[in-house]
Amino acid sequence: RHFSSVPSPQSNSTEENGFKGHGMLAPFTAGWQSTDVHPLVIERSEGSYVYDIDGKKYLDSLAGLWCTALGGSEPRLVKAATEQLHKLPFYHSFWNRTTKPSLDLAKELLSMFTAREMGKVFFTNSGSEANDSQVKLVWYYNNALGRPDKKKFIARSKSYHGSTLISASLSGLPALHQKFDLPAPFVLHTDCPHYWRFHLPGETEEEFATRLANNLENLIIKEGPETIAAFIAEPVMGAGGVIPPPKTYFEKVQAVVKKYDILFIADEVITAFGRLGTMFGCDMYNIKPDLVSVAKVHLLMDLHTLAIQERNIPDHVKQISPRFQEGVKAFAGSPIVGEIRGVGMILGTEFADNKSPNDPFPAEWGVGAIFGAECQKRGMLVRVAGDNIMMSPPLIMTSDEVEELVSIYGDALKATEERVAELKSK
Ligand code: PMP
Repeated sequence: RHFSSVPSPQSNSTEENGFKGHGMLAPFTAGWQSTDVHPLVIERSEGSYVYDIDGKKYLDSLAGLWCTALGGSEPRLVKAATEQLHKLPFYHSFWNRTTKPSLDLAKELLSMFTAREMGKVFFTNSGSEANDSQVKLVWYYNNALGRPDKKKFIARSKSYHGSTLISASLSGLPALHQKFDLPAPFVLHTDCPHYWRFHLPGETEEEFATRLANNLENLIIKEGPETIAAFIAEPVMGAGGVIPPPKTYFEKVQAVVKKYDILFIADEVITAFGRLGTMFGCDMYNIKPDLVSVAKVHLLMDLHTLAIQERNIPDHVKQISPRFQEGVKAFAGSPIVGEIRGVGMILGTEFADNKSPNDPFPAEWGVGAIFGAECQKRGMLVRVAGDNIMMSPPLIMTSDEVEELVSIYGDALKATEERVAELKSK
């Protein structure tokens, strides 16, 4: 009961709709709340307003969860999403495959961010995942530079960086740590830059900022600068209570982190794209970050779920998967195949010499890659990972398409066998 603050006022009439004790485990909602209190069920939006399931209208002063910057019914977003859903509802950017909208968006973002020249954009599905990925990028970077001990992160008390294990660790809110065994040990927290709450008697904003920068420097020295990888900060703290920085704060902390070769990560999940009146929070406070997390520029829609129900996909899979499995597994006798394994519409092939798990082909032969290329040549994309091949095709496949898959697989395998025979004879 101590976990959350006062529950938001509920719509009275929603009570009659019987959503009390609903089946959803809601984030940032205490167990007792979701059992005892009727949730506010929002049904639609229009500009700055949202409407609950009973038609009651609310001015949405938090913009969804900080995020509906263009309100809830921007026709251009609806049009763009609809068109994209018709054209290509999903594709990924793994293994140097990608989509034109991803490339366009990356280019656009790089040109928009002018506080400092940025090299690349990495896409994720949420702000939390963005910040987790920042940790990975920074660790990868320091490993590449041959300084494996430079791994700690410094964040600030009352910051909010997300709800996953690592982003919640970075966050400086006790509710995100208690009962979850967090923060992770590589995360340190320094002062919250909230002048009103934490300044000493007679201390000016500038003096307060100087003291906080000194505290940060002392923490770095105490821990050992060679162990500190990055400092992460929201230009204006959001979920910690909307706390803009005191005067000269970012100037001073940037000087400190720079001095010790510590990366500066700006978490702009809330502040990017005009929230502060500048395009980015970094523009506002003259922050020159090494890495930036932004959000709200993607559109993800879970229409797959709906389509899967309407098309009765599980039954369809039951119909087509036996032929998929049997058709491909029929090639298991190939001299270069170690094992073919799978169920339903997912299937893996592992190449091996002598059909033995103990006799891998020499990695430099690239047997898996040869097979992948042979498939691609014949108009099929597969996932290659070393000498493992993975397939999980669309579940709406027709029987004819399954036959095509099996046929290309067989032809590509034959070509690969020939290539391996050549390599062996050398
Ligand atoms: N960083 C900040 C500054 C945020 O405010 C938030 C959430 N609004 C996040 C990260 C996490 O984003 P998400 O909820 O998309 O995971």
